[in-house]
Amino acid sequence: VIDGSYRQPPSLPRFVCLSCEERAPAPGPCPGCAVERLPLADPRVRDALAASAERRLQARAGREQMVLGAAAFLAATPLRWTGGWLLGTLLWLLVGLVGTGLAWRAVARFSPRSALHAFRRRRLSGGQAPVADA
Ligand SMILES: [Zn+2]
Repeated sequence: VIDGSYRQPPSLPRFVCLSCEERAPAPGPCPGCAVERLPLADPRVRDALAASAERRLQARAGREQMVLGAAAFLAATPLRWTGGWLLGTLLWLLVGLVGTGLAWRAVARFSPRSALHAFRRRRLSGGQAPVADA
């Protein structure tokens, strides 16, 4: 039987390009960005990968917070035309802020694919004192 299943399994990727995180079984320059691949066995390389994953997660959480904040303030916009200019603006700011906080909590709790959810899970399972989470 000429079938792939009898061949040796491909060797595991043991080298990584820290620029694009392409993994390969052999060292040498990455074809995409010509950066020399580094061994995954090196704990410093694994630290660098973990640090860049953390940066990406932080950036994603920041974008989620920004979008949710913008949506909350946009949804509260009609309040600006209630009760006069000053009261309307104060009401808009208050409802926008509270709405933003609620939206962050709701997404963190009910959207398992969000970065905010990842941070919430980390906070709840972390070694810190348990956070009151209503
Ligand atoms: Zn690369």
